[in-house]
Amino acid sequence: MKKFKRVLVANRGEIAIRIFRACSELDIRSVAIYSEEDKNSLFRTKADESYQIGKNKKPVDAYLGIDEIISIAKSKGVDAIHPGYGLLSENVEFARKCEESGIVFIGPDHIMMDKLGDKIKSKKVAHSVKVPTIPGIEEAVKSEDDARKFADFCGYPVILKASAGGGGRGMRIVWREEDLIREFNSAQSEAKKAFGIDDIFIEKYLERPKHIEVQVLGDNYGNIVHLYERDCSIQRRHQKVIEFTPAICITNEQRQNICEDALEIARSVNYRSAGTVEFLVDKNGNHYFIEMNPRVQVEHTITEMATGIDIVQSQILIAEGHRLDSEEVNIKSQNSIEHRGYAIQCRVTTEDPANNFAPDTGKIDVYRTGSGFGIRLDGDNGFTGAVISPYYDSLLVKVSSWSRSFKDAIGKSSRALREVKILGVKTNIGFLLNVLNHETFRNGQCDTGFIADNPSLLN
Ligand code: ADP
Repeated sequence: MKKFKRVLVANRGEIAIRIFRACSELDIRSVAIYSEEDKNSLFRTKADESYQIGKNKKPVDAYLGIDEIISIAKSKGVDAIHPGYGLLSENVEFARKCEESGIVFIGPDHIMMDKLGDKIKSKKVAHSVKVPTIPGIEEAVKSEDDARKFADFCGYPVILKASAGGGGRGMRIVWREEDLIREFNSAQSEAKKAFGIDDIFIEKYLERPKHIEVQVLGDNYGNIVHLYERDCSIQRRHQKVIEFTPAICITNEQRQNICEDALEIARSVNYRSAGTVEFLVDKNGNHYFIEMNPRVQVEHTITEMATGIDIVQSQILIAEGHRLDSEEVNIKSQNSIEHRGYAIQCRVTTEDPANNFAPDTGKIDVYRTGSGFGIRLDGDNGFTGAVISPYYDSLLVKVSSWSRSFKDAIGKSSRALREVKILGVKTNIGFLLNVLNHETFRNGQCDTGFIADNPSLLN
């Protein structure tokens, strides 16, 4: 058991602030790192200490300098590093080097991460415990011929995926045989460029499934619980836009089966820290594992609102060596976890829906947010005078709501979004309001094709 005195957050933006807050609540000093381009960003002022990194590096590369980050952590007496999401959060080498330097990596160990962070390997883990996966080839497809054989066998459409892909990138849907070879070759070279590894695998493409994922938490002693599911089907180009919990489109029996399968996978690797097990659910209600994310996710907020469990604090306490059922983490058993009401998260971005969601940049002239009963805001760059740069993610603020009914949670989200006033940069708020207003959304029945099928949402 080691009480942390200092935790460094190897990330930026809203998730860095989220983690600093948890540190502060646990009486831990927070340490930020920031790039030249983030000199004036709000997040670094929210930490107790902050240090510039990546001089002369490209804006994103600054946050990927493993050795530099570990060396700063060591020189500043940091006990542990929280990687947030994206950036180095699923980097096996980073986790390993932290461990070797005597710095605690707040997440699973590098061996576990290696098994789960890669889509092909994690499918094998699911197979080993008989959790259903989408029909496909569970090896990197080496030749166009292998890809063709599989597609001929299972029928089109199929999807080609980069094993190391993430964030909706590195996927290609192939609708017709004549496109397969071309798509295979470009998927491979794209994967190499984007992720450094050209491993591609192929699986059946499910048409308009639902995306249901389960939050899990495990300690260092083999105790693992789930914190129920989230419906993340509302996606644009395979990226989540609005998430909510609980999923309305599944029965209690399906919910139980999906959560139990998520636990099977987590247990099979003795999973430690927070993680998410993702599934697709087809039209017939069958669920299939797609991947496990061994880190905190953007949409963890809604699970926190519905269960009252602080996921980021739990991650830190678990990394200090506390058991799930300790006084500190305070999760006595699976049965003690109560999921109450409905929570919805909307991702407000500086993107222009009228211009194919192109990221907008520039100075924010006016910034006013909505709040009030049942609303939670997690944000970073938003303040009057802030400059939105083109270098990073366009997520501006996450607006989450909670209520005893789904209808009222929608009402609270809409009301809070209508209160927001942002001038100077374009945002997707009008688009989010259109989704919240749509009957299919209000019935909790959107599938992953919903946004693409409804161009009127852009007006
Ligand atoms: P990433 O790691 O990039 O987020 P995922 O494997 O989690 O990628 O998939 C993201 C989304 O892509 C899913 O939620 C779903 O909408 C779509 N998707 C992935 N695999 C399939 C598939 N086999 N059939 C249909 N849609 C898929």
